[in-house]
Amino acid sequence: MTVRILHADHVLPGDEPPIADAAVVVDEGGTVVEVGRAAEVLPHHAGAEVERVRGIVFPGLVNAHTHVELSAMRGKVPGGRGFVAWVDAMLGVRFEHSPEDDAEAIERAADDLVRCATVAVGDVTNSLAAVGALSRRGIGGWAFHEVFGQDREQVLRRVHGLHEELAARHPEWPTRDLAYAPAPHTLYTTHADAVRALVESALGRELRTSIHLAEHAGERRAIEHGDGPVVEWFERRTKQKPAWPKAPLFDHARDVGVLRPAVLLVHLTEARSDELARIAESGASVVLCPRSNLYIEAKLPPLHAVMKAGIEPALGTDSLASNASLDVLAEARALQERFPTVPAWELVRMATWNGARALGRTDLGRIHAGARPGIYAVQGDAGGDPAAFLLANVRAPRERLSHAFGRGRAAAEAPP
Ligand SMILES: [Zn+2]
Repeated sequence: MTVRILHADHVLPGDEPPIADAAVVVDEGGTVVEVGRAAEVLPHHAGAEVERVRGIVFPGLVNAHTHVELSAMRGKVPGGRGFVAWVDAMLGVRFEHSPEDDAEAIERAADDLVRCATVAVGDVTNSLAAVGALSRRGIGGWAFHEVFGQDREQVLRRVHGLHEELAARHPEWPTRDLAYAPAPHTLYTTHADAVRALVESALGRELRTSIHLAEHAGERRAIEHGDGPVVEWFERRTKQKPAWPKAPLFDHARDVGVLRPAVLLVHLTEARSDELARIAESGASVVLCPRSNLYIEAKLPPLHAVMKAGIEPALGTDSLASNASLDVLAEARALQERFPTVPAWELVRMATWNGARALGRTDLGRIHAGARPGIYAVQGDAGGDPAAFLLANVRAPRERLSHAFGRGRAAAEAPP
């Protein structure tokens, strides 16, 4: 077996604290053979050539929530005025510009993902327009085919037609590395029966699925009281008058089946401590998108409460309609600036191993024997805290040292 041996000032394994003066051994397929202190690892491979890395070695990043198809909306939707103003402006721009038809913007965004060392995404899509751009670059994870609508018959027809749409548009897909699953949009834009059907459809096939949850106060008001700005907006926009549940938000979330393992709950900016405890108990995955929350509402996800509940959150950038870049490490950096007591390596874990687990891809997100995470490096003198150095140098070039995808072990192979 030919191996490649890297001897680095620091290895950030992703799932564990950093290791100083460390070595990583990978085989020619990119699978990690061994990682640990250089003094322990190197003697096992006496005589082999060793590459010296003056800097930090870390695993490929996982952006657990994004919408690559909206990339043409970069800079076009103003923020800072709250969710309803944002989503109204976003839909207006989307209607006018059809960002999913802008193949060039999608290709550029996929290149950016590669450039910032992203190996996997939880990509939410209505159009499947970014699937080719992601697949061609060996970016894995999930395309979550999102459905919304409060007209029960209409939206259930759409749910049941997803398979045909997929087969017609992408007969050669999903691949083993970039998997496909249906997903509801939110509890207030997707009929409760459709949410149930989508979750059953995904979980029944051992896929994962995703939903935006507790993103803003108007959402809670809509579900719990059936009034407020989100209800006004939704009814004005769609001319529909849904039967609002008028139940506690997380009781409703439980009743439609989203509080369970293999479901990614995205945002939780408005979730309270007791609700976070319920999520922790349910085993659902959590994805925080701090820069998007800051952009839209000037709010932050409750990171301390999330961690105190025992949740290990993943991070996502959301789309370029509410963010400046698709760099998930910049999310960790944004949290570091506002939650300085959280250890930097734990923030890096959110952008690597926690994301990999949220996507059900334990072969990614950590430099660990048997994993195939993609190995990257940032050069420089990292001092005493390499994770802090990595976050402080978010703009530094990330050099790819090993990458082997497209032949991967994936969570799912069968389309629904
Ligand atoms: Zn989103």
